[in-house]
Amino acid sequence: MGPEASAHWPLASAIAVIAPSLIAPIASYGRETLNNRLQASNERLKQLSETDPLTETMNRRRFMEVAEQQLALAQRYCYPTSLLLLDIDHFKQVNDLYGHAMGDRALVQLTRVMAAELRETDTMARFGGAEFIMLLPHTAREGALSLAERVRTAARHHIIKHQESETSVTISIGGVTCESSTTPLDRMISHADKLLYDSKQAGRDRCSIEAISGQSPMPVLHRQVS
Ligand code: GH3
Ligand code: MG
Repeated sequence: MGPEASAHWPLASAIAVIAPSLIAPIASYGRETLNNRLQASNERLKQLSETDPLTETMNRRRFMEVAEQQLALAQRYCYPTSLLLLDIDHFKQVNDLYGHAMGDRALVQLTRVMAAELRETDTMARFGGAEFIMLLPHTAREGALSLAERVRTAARHHIIKHQESETSVTISIGGVTCESSTTPLDRMISHADKLLYDSKQAGRDRCSIEAISGQSPMPVLHRQVS
């Protein structure tokens, strides 16, 4: 080592000692920021995978997961649970008469109107095109019918506005109450779907709710156009 190099030696040693302690916090800050960003984008992805993009309510896939968990609890603690399927009446006409944008507006607004009638513990999702589904824990048949009626009435009184046009729609509802929740979710849904069809056949803008206990259905409760 020449005299010039040996003159720089103390400086080089000092840098070798100090540099890691300066760089380490910066590197760790960088890692932490990256981790936070990754975590935030994972949460965002999860939220997107569980949400209907138009109405921003829960999607069908997430509903099935939540409902399975809810029914397991209801079965464990033996309390009644109701499930409602709701479909907008003659919705194709809304699109045909006022355009798809008005149809979209109707779906978004009705989602809010219907959700406003629910309790915190209820779960609502968009089940398909103009079809919605609700799971109501701790709710027996009378309670389910009264909620369904409130939702139906709120929907039919809501005025949907888009640009120069305004309109309103009605909804039909089919529902099932499982007194002690021993009925599988898919059977509750297919039963509610059959009752929704009955409501449509009977003239629309009405609810049909049936209590099922095990295999034997109990009498149907109907409420008609107010
Ligand atoms: P019904 O009373 O028998 O239910 O008659 P309907 O015309 O409502 O018939 P159906 O429920 O079978 O049709 C639903 C329609 O909803 C079909 C489609 O045109 C419309 N639709 C589904 N998804 C959307 C959407 O995201 N936006 C809009 N604007 N329309 C939709
Ligand atoms: Mg419809």
